[in-house]
Amino acid sequence: MPQKKNKAQPGLAANPSPIWHPFTQMKEWEYEKPTLIVEGSGSTLIDSEGKRYLDGTSSIWVNIHGHRHPAIDAALRAQLNKIAHSTLLGLSNPPAIALAQQLIALAPQGAPAPHKDLTKVFYSDDGSTAVEIALKIAFSFWQHQGRRHKKKRKFITFANAYHGDTLGSVSLGGIDLFHEAYRPLLFETIKVPAPTCYRCPIALDYPSCALACVDEVEKALKAHDRQIAGLIIEPLVQAAAGLLTAPRGYLDKIRRLCTQYDVLMIADEVATGFGRTGKMFACEHEGVAPDLMALSKGITGGYMPLAATLTTQEIYEAFLGDYAEFKTFFHGHSYTGNPLGCAAALANLAVFKKERTLKKMQPKIAYVKKALSPWKRWAHVGDIRQVGLMIGIELVADKKKKTHYPLTMRVGHHVCKEAKTQGLLLRPLGNVIVLMPPLSISMRDLKKMIAIVGTAIKKVTSSMR
Ligand code: PMP
Repeated sequence: MPQKKNKAQPGLAANPSPIWHPFTQMKEWEYEKPTLIVEGSGSTLIDSEGKRYLDGTSSIWVNIHGHRHPAIDAALRAQLNKIAHSTLLGLSNPPAIALAQQLIALAPQGAPAPHKDLTKVFYSDDGSTAVEIALKIAFSFWQHQGRRHKKKRKFITFANAYHGDTLGSVSLGGIDLFHEAYRPLLFETIKVPAPTCYRCPIALDYPSCALACVDEVEKALKAHDRQIAGLIIEPLVQAAAGLLTAPRGYLDKIRRLCTQYDVLMIADEVATGFGRTGKMFACEHEGVAPDLMALSKGITGGYMPLAATLTTQEIYEAFLGDYAEFKTFFHGHSYTGNPLGCAAALANLAVFKKERTLKKMQPKIAYVKKALSPWKRWAHVGDIRQVGLMIGIELVADKKKKTHYPLTMRVGHHVCKEAKTQGLLLRPLGNVIVLMPPLSISMRDLKKMIAIVGTAIKKVTSSMR
C-alpha cells in the first residue's frame, strides 16, 4: 500500500517524530532538525551524520565511566545470557541481592540512635520513585509507631528544591517554573530557605553569618513541634535549582537538628551520589548518615533505569507484623530489582574500585577549579559553583547587582546552542551553564570542554545587550 505523506500542519513544520520530549517546548522542536544519537564511546556521542560531540551533561547526569565501558557492556551481556527480568514480588534474584549488600556496605553509616545504620534497600526505577518511596516510608513509619507519633505527617522541604516529577516528589519541590502549575494537586509542606550564599535568603555573608540559615530550619521545627515526619535535603548541592551549593557545615547541622527534634532525615543523593561530588556520596563530606537515602542516576553508570531507597533497620522493623495488622509496605513497580539493571550497577561499582575512579577524578576537580577561577572576573559571570565534577556557571545581566537575565532571553540556551556547534552537548538550567562530565573524562577532553564553554559564554554574552 502506498504510504500516506505527512502533510505539514499550518504553522508547524513537517516533523515525523512521534516522540513528545521531556522538558521541551515541542513547538520549537518541530522546526528543528533533531540530533539523533546513534553511538557513543567514552565521553563522546556520535550522531546519525557522524558528527562527534563531548557529552557535557553525562547524558543528564547519569554516565560515570563513559559510554560503552567494556566491563559494564560485558556484565550486561552475561546477565542477558541468564535472564533479563523476573519480579521481586514473591521472588528474589542474585544481582539484586548482591547489589543491595554492596550499597549497604558503601552507604554513609552511623546515623545517631535510635535510627542507626542503613540496612535495607527498596528498589525502584528512577530518582522520582526513589524519593516517592522515601516519603511514603517516612510517613508510614510514624503511623506504625502509633499514639502521639501519628501526628507526625508533615515534611520540611527547601526553597528551590527538586526531587523529581511524580506528584509526591513535586510536592516536595520548590522550583516554581516546574512545580507551581500543579499546586492544586499537591500536598502542603513546610518550606525553609535554601542554604545558598550567592543570593543569601537572609542577606548575610559567609562565614561571618555563622550559618544563621540553619536557625530558620530550627524555627520551623519548633513551630510544628511533634508534627514533622521528615526533612528532605539534596546534600551539598541543589542540583536542578542551578547547582546551588550549601556552605560547609550546613549538612551536619541539619543532621543534628533532625536528631534533636526526632525527625527522619532523607538525603536525596539522586544527583550527588556515585562519585559526582568527589566522594561516593555527598553526605560523606560532612560525616553525615541519613535515616533514608534516595539513589538513582549514576547507580548503573548511566546504562539502565534503576533506583534504590535505603533505610535503617529500625524503620524497616516498624513495618513488620502479622499480615492482618496490615503493616505491609504496599508499594512496588513492575521492574523493581530488574536483574539487568542490578548487573549493570554491580559492574559500575566494580569499575569504581578497579579504576580507582574517585582518586583519579581529584586532579580533574582541581583543574576545573583553577581553569574557571579567572572567569569570575568576566563581565557576565555572576557566580561559579563547583562541588567535585558538578559545575554551575551563573550568567547575570548586571554583575554588581546580580541581576538575572530575563528567562525569556534564554541566555543559557543560546550558550549551549553555540557550544553544540563547536562539538559539546550541554543543557542549561535557566541562566546557569551546567557542566557535568563523565567522571572518567580524559584531561584532554576536559580542557577542550572548558575551552568551548568559555568561547560560547563570551560570544553569547557579548552579543546580548
Ligand atoms: N532528585 C534529584 C536531586 C534530582 O536531581 C532528580 C533528577 N534530576 C530527581 C530526584 C529525579 O530523578 P529522575 O529524573 O530519575 O526521576
